[in-house]
Amino acid sequence: QAKALGRCNYQYYSPEMNARTLDRLTLENGLRHAIERHELVVLYQPQYSLATGAMTGVEALLRWLPPGRDVITPDVFIPIAEDSGLIVPIGEWVLRTACAQQVAWKQAGLGSLRIAVNLSARQFRQAGMEVMVAQALEDSGCDAGCLELEITESVLMDRPDSAAETLQRLSRMGVRLAIDDFGTGYSSLAYLKRFPIDVLKIDRSFVRDIPGDSDDAAIATAVTALAHSMHMSVVAEGVETEAQRDFLRSLQCDYVQGYLYSKPIAADAVATLLKLAL
Ligand code: C2E
Ligand code: MG
Ligand code: MG
Ligand code: MG
Repeated sequence: QAKALGRCNYQYYSPEMNARTLDRLTLENGLRHAIERHELVVLYQPQYSLATGAMTGVEALLRWLPPGRDVITPDVFIPIAEDSGLIVPIGEWVLRTACAQQVAWKQAGLGSLRIAVNLSARQFRQAGMEVMVAQALEDSGCDAGCLELEITESVLMDRPDSAAETLQRLSRMGVRLAIDDFGTGYSSLAYLKRFPIDVLKIDRSFVRDIPGDSDDAAIATAVTALAHSMHMSVVAEGVETEAQRDFLRSLQCDYVQGYLYSKPIAADAVATLLKLAL
């Protein structure tokens, strides 16, 4: 077929592109076996209440450790997992792992943390995904109220009617629903009225330059006020400095997560932090 297109099209087959395609295929093939080969690891980033200072929850963040390679971050492999459909079994594994971990911390006397798990678009659109969530909760013994599912605005805007139904079913189960990276997607505020959302997560890009940048300060202020007036809570992500924290506290933002407190860490490191706070 390349021949039929003629010599002029040779540039479509540049070595650079072959390398990229090859790399992607290599990653996709590797990812195919990553669960059974125990190469996937869930790290947990603590979330703290600004009112009490206590660790109230964690966000589950996935890492891939292929043998003989450096750790691969989700920005690289989640899109590949999405395109190939591998996100469905991988996402279910993350959810089950996180739910089991929540119960393990609780049974160790470390309290009942809330666990936030990211859901990709493809996962969210799987028929019967709420049945999968219910099964994961039941099998682990994790309370639905301790699970928070993070979705992005684009997931909601794509097929709003079926998204609304799925969210209603999850919400009725008692699972909390959060909008991740709030304000970065293209979306309409009307969906906040329509969907049973419990939490807005202020995107890191709006947190980075507060309090100095007046536009970002205005956005953080407005998002917090909007959330509270609609009975939602607010999590700020990417909090790295005390000045950011103090500003967010002055807004009465509810929860924070970021390098100021902790990077994403292994489950036993979370346990260590919890023990120190006992
Ligand atoms: P996200 O859900 O918005 O997660 C927040 C990201 O910000 C994480 O990156 C976290 O490590 C990073 N972060 C947190 N605090 C700070 C900070 O103070 N400074 C800076 N510079 N970064 C901070 P990570 O772990 O690389 O994950 C990137 C994205 O990959 C996530 O963004 C999420 O969209 C996706 N992701 C991660 N795990 C999963 C998963 O299990 N399933 C799905 N579908 N997506 C996942
Ligand atoms: Mg997230
Ligand atoms: Mg986020
Ligand atoms: Mg973000």
